[in-house]
Amino acid sequence: MKALVYTGIGQLEIQDVPMPEDDFIIKVSGCGVCGTDLKTYIVGHHMFKPPAILGHEFYGTVYRAPQDCGFKEGDVVVAVPYRECGECLTCRRTVGQMCRNKSFIPSGAFCEYVGVPSDYINKGIFKIEKGDDVFTLVEPLACVINGAEHLKITGFSNIAIVGSGPMGALFALLFSSRGLPVSVIETSETRRNLVSSWGIKCYEPGQVDIEDFDNIVIAVNKAEIVNEYITRVADGGTVLVFAGLPRDVVLNTDSYSVHYREVTVTGSSGFSIQHFKKALEMIKTNPGMFSRVITHRLPLEQGREGFELLKKAEPLKMVLKP
Ligand SMILES: [Zn+2]
Ligand SMILES: [Zn+2]
Repeated sequence: MKALVYTGIGQLEIQDVPMPEDDFIIKVSGCGVCGTDLKTYIVGHHMFKPPAILGHEFYGTVYRAPQDCGFKEGDVVVAVPYRECGECLTCRRTVGQMCRNKSFIPSGAFCEYVGVPSDYINKGIFKIEKGDDVFTLVEPLACVINGAEHLKITGFSNIAIVGSGPMGALFALLFSSRGLPVSVIETSETRRNLVSSWGIKCYEPGQVDIEDFDNIVIAVNKAEIVNEYITRVADGGTVLVFAGLPRDVVLNTDSYSVHYREVTVTGSSGFSIQHFKKALEMIKTNPGMFSRVITHRLPLEQGREGFELLKKAEPLKMVLKP
């Protein structure tokens, strides 16, 4: 089968690789490029040693299924790339996203077929009625829903999203769909124009008073921005460190803000299966709204060009299609 193989930093090539041999196989219809995939391509990643097939935000049709597994050939499905064990202390504390005994789909989905281990079929594969690229957004939206649960939103809240890459854009859509006042602060004019065309207020940094916001999502990976917003968020406000920062980065948390102004600094990473299910329901209910985040679709063969385009940080979500 055809696969887009990550062969080293800055390198992606189409190769002919063996078909998976599992009893359950999904024929991929589309797979979104995640920030993690892009980061791996640009600087490498300890979890993805080349050669590797990247991509985990995918949907497709069942190509092969064992008898009586609950799925049959031709079913349209979306797969959760990992799932918590549900039994450890961490899971019982309802932070399954932090579970250390997660099970995974072992292969990436920038290819034609993905094999699913038999013990994962009923844990991580969900039927959808009909295929649509919007279902590549279930996993990113699950991460966003997890992040949103860390905020302290009241009837008087005013929310700011700093950075409107695909994740920031999903946050903005999520809040605006709930009727909450939300503004986006973004340096790229292209992205501002796009998001404001959805009826969401967008500002350049410096154009708006940060003090007006009590819930701030930092969706850009710059520590200095986190430090700045902690000192400027409204009294009693919350700053969510959503974008991942390099491991050795230390935040200069302003103690005056944390103590005297009761500012909460929090973070979120990944999702639990509950977030994934919620995201799936939301997308099923409102596919048209979430589809706006997908700005580019490319055939898998043009994957490398797609990644190069994403480096420019102008597109929002890109879906590669085998
Ligand atoms: Zn992702
Ligand atoms: Zn667990």
